[in-house]
Amino acid sequence: MQEKEKSPITQHLLTDAGHSVLFTAKRPELVMERGEGMYLWDTDGNRYLDFVGGWAVTCLGHSPAVIREALARQASTLVNASPAYFNKPMIEFAKQLTGLSGLDKAFFASSGAEANEGAIKLARKHGAVRLDGAYEIIATTNSFHGRTLATMSATGKAHWRPLFAPKVPGFKHVPLNDFDALLAAVDRNTCAIMLELVQGEGGVHLAEADYVAKLRKLCDERGIMLIFDEIQTGIGRTGKLFACEHYGIKPDVMTLGKGIGGGFPLSALLAASSFDLFEPGDQGGTYSGQPLAMAAGQAVVEEVVRRRLPEHAECMGVYMTGRLYELARQYPIRQVRGQGLLQAFELERGDGASLVETCRESGLLINSPNPSTIRLMPPLIVTEAEIDEMIGLLSKAMDAIE
Ligand SMILES: *Cc1c(COP(=O)(O)O)cnc(C)c1O
Repeated sequence: MQEKEKSPITQHLLTDAGHSVLFTAKRPELVMERGEGMYLWDTDGNRYLDFVGGWAVTCLGHSPAVIREALARQASTLVNASPAYFNKPMIEFAKQLTGLSGLDKAFFASSGAEANEGAIKLARKHGAVRLDGAYEIIATTNSFHGRTLATMSATGKAHWRPLFAPKVPGFKHVPLNDFDALLAAVDRNTCAIMLELVQGEGGVHLAEADYVAKLRKLCDERGIMLIFDEIQTGIGRTGKLFACEHYGIKPDVMTLGKGIGGGFPLSALLAASSFDLFEPGDQGGTYSGQPLAMAAGQAVVEEVVRRRLPEHAECMGVYMTGRLYELARQYPIRQVRGQGLLQAFELERGDGASLVETCRESGLLINSPNPSTIRLMPPLIVTEAEIDEMIGLLSKAMDAIE
């Protein structure tokens, strides 16, 4: 691919970024400026077809009118009242989410990690109050639950294990879909089991129906709290509003993030009323139920439901899988997998980073969660034409890196 000329403005911005933005990640030499629908534009006017979707976040595409209008409307009424008071959009949004999920109570925060942090605390509260001080949470290897210290401790990434020692104690990890391993890990200290129904950051690995059914039964029998982290899978991503609908199983606690704000920082913890256990002072946050976030979330969820985007995601997912299988006949890729618009495949050569870079240079954004895996998580509004465009750009990039 040709090396693109950077404008002086972009060069200045990148120099300033190097000087003043704390380094946390290797970022490409470009600056994003504008987004609309399926596309992003950088400060040099290059257009990118976005199959990362703001990291499985921008479910309605970039800068959709419903979010812009909801934010403007709410901002002109009330920006912030304080977490000490109820506000109207907070109550309305809690009612909407509990109605849709079949869970009874909602707590709001700004990021997925905070919602999971809340779930972890609620699990320990449950253990303290009802299970004779049980405090241990069983999570799965290869899982991802966030970047706060407790959620990093809950996360089952092998290469995170030595980081930031000492970790928060009280987490055990067992392989996904291995019920015997899970059963062996459960003991009198176990207060909760926590998992993603599709491991997203782990490379798109699905929990099996039989396994999830056994988990639910085990938790019911032993009084253990069952937590589904639906931060990546929730709000239509997998072809249902919540991935647990594929299984016909309700957790005790569900966490939501990413797509729920459509790009606005927002997360939620939903709980069955029997787990409404926090006492004053146990849980909170300055921005819990923040009116702008509530208005954005309400508008996003309403739009996702109104436009039947989960069904659309399912259809587009089937179409995308078909196109990826075709690609797999021509190129060294295998194991096309996923659900709805959360899909991945393996690269035989393990050259994920260079494929991502080559695609980006030709105007396509994709993600490689590990060197041998490519993950696709476009906005839920994606069409067949845009999937075709993605496949075209992807095959050109595969040719280029041959
Ligand atoms: C992204 C993600 C998180 C963390 O969310 P943040 O908003 O980055 O804190 C937690 N769990 C899962 C499954 C995720 O995909």
